[in-house]
Amino acid sequence: MSESPLVNSTDTSRLLTDTYVALSKTPEVWGGSLGEALRHITRTCANALGVQRASIWQIKDNMNFMECSCLYLEERDCFEQGLVLQGHAYPRYFTALSFERVVAANDARTDSRTKEFAEGYLKPLNIHSMLDATIRVEGQVRGVLCMEPVGQKRKWSPMEMDFIASISELLSQLYLFNSMRDRESRFRTLFESTMDSIFILKAGTIIECNPVSTTMFRCTREQLIGIRAERISPHVQPDGSESEKLAEVNLAATLNGKQLTFEWVHRRFDGELFDAEVTLSRVLIDGDYCVMGTVRDVSARRSAEAALLESQAKLEYQASHDALTALPNRESLHKMASQGILAATDNNKQLAVFLLDLNRFKDVNDTLGHGIGDVVLQRMAKRMNILLEKERAELYRLGGDEFAVLQYDIPNKEAAVDLAQKLNQSLKKPLSIEGMELEIGASIGIALYPDHGENSHALLRCSDVAMYYAKTHGQSHAFYDTNYDSHSTQRLLMLADLSVAMRDNHLMLYYQPRIDLATGVCTGCEALLRWQHPKHGMVPPGDFIPLAEMTEIIHPLSYWVIRTALQQVRNWLDQGYEIPVAVNLSARNLVDLRCPEQVSALLKEFDIPNHLLEIEITESAIITDPQRAMQVVADFHDLGIHLAIDDFGTGYSSLSYLKKLPIQTLKIDRSFVCDMLTDEADDVIVRSTIGLAHSFGLAVVAEGVENDETLDVLRSLNCEQAQGFHICRPIPVDEFNQWIQSHQVDPKPVK
Ligand code: C2E
Ligand code: CA
Ligand code: CA
Repeated sequence: MSESPLVNSTDTSRLLTDTYVALSKTPEVWGGSLGEALRHITRTCANALGVQRASIWQIKDNMNFMECSCLYLEERDCFEQGLVLQGHAYPRYFTALSFERVVAANDARTDSRTKEFAEGYLKPLNIHSMLDATIRVEGQVRGVLCMEPVGQKRKWSPMEMDFIASISELLSQLYLFNSMRDRESRFRTLFESTMDSIFILKAGTIIECNPVSTTMFRCTREQLIGIRAERISPHVQPDGSESEKLAEVNLAATLNGKQLTFEWVHRRFDGELFDAEVTLSRVLIDGDYCVMGTVRDVSARRSAEAALLESQAKLEYQASHDALTALPNRESLHKMASQGILAATDNNKQLAVFLLDLNRFKDVNDTLGHGIGDVVLQRMAKRMNILLEKERAELYRLGGDEFAVLQYDIPNKEAAVDLAQKLNQSLKKPLSIEGMELEIGASIGIALYPDHGENSHALLRCSDVAMYYAKTHGQSHAFYDTNYDSHSTQRLLMLADLSVAMRDNHLMLYYQPRIDLATGVCTGCEALLRWQHPKHGMVPPGDFIPLAEMTEIIHPLSYWVIRTALQQVRNWLDQGYEIPVAVNLSARNLVDLRCPEQVSALLKEFDIPNHLLEIEITESAIITDPQRAMQVVADFHDLGIHLAIDDFGTGYSSLSYLKKLPIQTLKIDRSFVCDMLTDEADDVIVRSTIGLAHSFGLAVVAEGVENDETLDVLRSLNCEQAQGFHICRPIPVDEFNQWIQSHQVDPKPVK
């Protein structure tokens, strides 16, 4: 081991002094980051003192531990950091640091202040001497600067000790400078990067402002500096107070030590006003109290808040209204009905809940498309709304083609009937859409408070039951009746049962003959569907066909009817009877373009001449989608299948269609025929219909002939054929076969 080389002490002194002076001036210490400065200082000191390790430590947590900020290793010319020494492991050293500015240990392994390091640190690193100086900031020990020669023992000179003390002094300044610089830069950043405008006001005049201020007030810095605060405010604030006076009061209060935050309307230099949130606080600048104001432009936030409120209102509106028709929805109905019920109770009046279902809407939607379906709903809604404007009533859309009406404070049932009729009349009027005349109409169910229910849910359910009754019984409206209830719950079950019925042979056809009025000969029969339900007994077609017509089930059902009827025609042919059979088709079948093809295939399958099949359709079935229905009807006609218009007179007599349709027969509805002898109007209708039909070259079948006199009158009117209970009720095949025997039908030879 060697002592430090002898160097000329004057040279050493010069070197150390120059080094200190250089360090105290160099931009590498003062201009860059703290880390850079520490690296520069350790390396420079190591070189100046000729030591191999020079480090700077930060003493933290009330002298509990020290952490190495920078360690220069001369041998590798590199830096390390991060090592931590705990205070309790080196108590003497830590104590020495608090009392001595410089710890110069020539023999560090034995020096009482540093020998704690001997085993774990000095020996392994081959260190014999240490020269440490404390770094104090504001009187407190904040760090240590350590010089450790490796492999040599040093006797530290006073010059070296002074040098290291001066460097630690420099480090103290450096720490202070850096913390100030940090603080200032933080403040600068805040001042300059905040979204708020920040002012300093001295005696009511702006003396300083940040860059945001110029964007916020749309002016230059020069325009702002020197002006009074009220110059950037409108003359009066929204509450009517004068800006100038109010500002004066606020500034005075702030100078008295109060911090104020308030809302303020400011004015930009281009004249635009904006809502702001202003905070004023007192600051001491160069010995004078000034006011620092922060101005936050909240106009964007305000408009966002307004937009939020608006969107909330919109959401609320959407939640309570139907988008398509803009009518209030089911939720609204329940809300309003509850209020209506209270009012009705107070006024000793009644409330009516109408449920309105458009007829054949599903077909319009399915066949003409949703676009047209939507237009229909909108136009219908408009019609009803116009009508209801004059009434104490409101319209709601519940979904699909279901509407509801609340009629308030009615004195009696008749008031509801009156409104139902008005609604029906208005809905029945044809609707012309894209050149088509659609006749829709509706079925209305009515429930009354307090008779039918205590709350809106009960009432709505009752009106639904009544509506379904009206629909299935061909009535324009119906009041709720407890008897309909079972009917309504059954209907869903029934729909499910219907598919089973088709499969399990619970369905059968009855046949009702019709005769030639002139000869009394049977000219054919009508196949009428019967359902022998295992639980409910015989279900009349009126109870399930309208239901089936609302769904896809009508397709397999009609197919079953045609197939069964043709099978029967085949049997009759086999027995030597040529009996044409008429089957009834629904609107939905008529818009199914595949229908004629399927029927034709069945005719072929059973080898039946096409003219032995007749198809009965109603006017209203055609009106649903005239274009398509016409196509289907034309296809049937081309196949040589006979077509008859059923229930003539009950639909919307659209003669224009009649003229266009390739039909052979017109069946006058039984309701006119039944009463034609007693009801003059019916008599007129029957007579004129027969005349009209003949003018079109059509044969006429009078349905519903219930007595001999009617037969006579029809005969005198040249009506060709008749059908009715008086001739024969619809009967099962066995009975029908007997009926033919006794009704002198000529058996025709089998082909
Ligand atoms: P519709 O096509 O008008 O059938 C004639 C209805 O009048 C039958 O009722 C028949 O029993 C009844 N009727 C016959 N003569 C008289 C009479 O002299 N007086 C009275 N008051 N009524 C008479 P039904 O069998 O109850 O059928 C009712 C309706 O059900 C039919 O009216 C038809 O629209 C429909 N329907 C029946 N079977 C089918 C079918 O297979 N498919 C389709 N789509 N509908 C069917
Ligand atoms: Ca019929
Ligand atoms: Ca009929």
